[in-house]
Amino acid sequence: MAVTKRTSSNVLLDTALKNFYAAAEEMGLDEGLIEILSRAERKLCVSIPVTMDDGTVKVFEGYRVQYSTALGPAKGGIRFHPDVTLEECEALACLMAWKCSLAGIPYGGGKGGVACNPLELSTAEKERISRTFAARIEPLVGAWTDVPAPDVNTGGQEMVWFMDTISKMRNRLEPAIFTGKPVSLWGSKGRTEATGAGVATCVREVLKAAGRDVKGATAIIQGFGNVGTHCALTLVDMGAKVLAISDITGGYYCPDGIDVKKAFDHVTNHPKHLLEGYEQPGLQKIAGEDILYLEADVLCPCALEGVINGDNAHKIKAKFIVEGANGPVTPEGDAALPKDVLVVPDFLANSGGVVGSYFEWVQDLMGFFWTKEEYNQRLLTLMADNFWRVWNYSKEHNVSMRKGAFMVAIKRVADAVKMRGVFL
Ligand code: GLU
Repeated sequence: MAVTKRTSSNVLLDTALKNFYAAAEEMGLDEGLIEILSRAERKLCVSIPVTMDDGTVKVFEGYRVQYSTALGPAKGGIRFHPDVTLEECEALACLMAWKCSLAGIPYGGGKGGVACNPLELSTAEKERISRTFAARIEPLVGAWTDVPAPDVNTGGQEMVWFMDTISKMRNRLEPAIFTGKPVSLWGSKGRTEATGAGVATCVREVLKAAGRDVKGATAIIQGFGNVGTHCALTLVDMGAKVLAISDITGGYYCPDGIDVKKAFDHVTNHPKHLLEGYEQPGLQKIAGEDILYLEADVLCPCALEGVINGDNAHKIKAKFIVEGANGPVTPEGDAALPKDVLVVPDFLANSGGVVGSYFEWVQDLMGFFWTKEEYNQRLLTLMADNFWRVWNYSKEHNVSMRKGAFMVAIKRVADAVKMRGVFL
């Protein structure tokens, strides 16, 4: 029997599959396991009818995909973005399965989303979309079945709307079904900063591995949402200099270093949380994409997928890419990068978010909450340990960090499937 390899016209799903098959081949994975692990367990498509503020009715499309539950409940965020599709959710759910496995936490992988443009929606419209979406995916979610979280354009408020809707439908409080909630409503201290702080920890460790110090290193951060802001703030705390940041309003470059705290205050106070109008002495406004090609030690793409690809990878000057976003470098991009560029892959670099979610879920199940210091200490120690586990494995097997991370992650899921058996 030869494996028929799945492909997809969706770039992200095709990338996820290509990366999976390449690692599975290198590992000599059993054909039956390849067939099982190259497919999502369950995919749900929902329609979300919403009365808009002007009285008209619009129907949005939403999705929830459970890629694997071999290691535990499906886990992964829900994004609100115009480009959300079922294929994209499947790819991101697949990435979550490897991410949770690699991180050593007791979860499978899932992902969901709603195709909508939050920039064009009022708060009331967002609430109605969130509540109807939660009601439609209600049969799938549960603390022991599927635990969603924030992703692109969603955060604590959306999680509370989801949690409240499910709790009302079930007539019992269900805090452990959604992570990334505000601290005041069963969230965890430290969760908001967790993903960005984890990315920054990987920056520090990869520099250390190369015999360099994060203190005095220069960085470029693409994307100034939850991940980008907290990555930049943590890097500055560590003594690095952030030369450029960007969001959908463009690139902001300052050779003397961006005043990240000031930029963070600016987006916090901006009505749409954008960098638009941000000023500081010596600041140059450049095209958003152009910040990718600036001279710096580290580049952290913390926005969306596919930004470094076969067309532009050769222009990258940074020596280290630490992937804060999911899938920012395509396989063609990987192949076209200058040979001396080292990539810390997304599902290692940005796993601080889901590790932080795991800590929140544990606290919700116990009803007993940790201090921020306890949380950070556990999170950042685990991130650094996971970095070195992948680093050492990749060196031992003479493969890239991405391939090494895939191999470690796939093995844990494959072993679980083998032990549990293929039925169901
Ligand atoms: N959306 C984040 C990710 O892609 C967090 C997922 C979670 O906490 O479940 O990793």
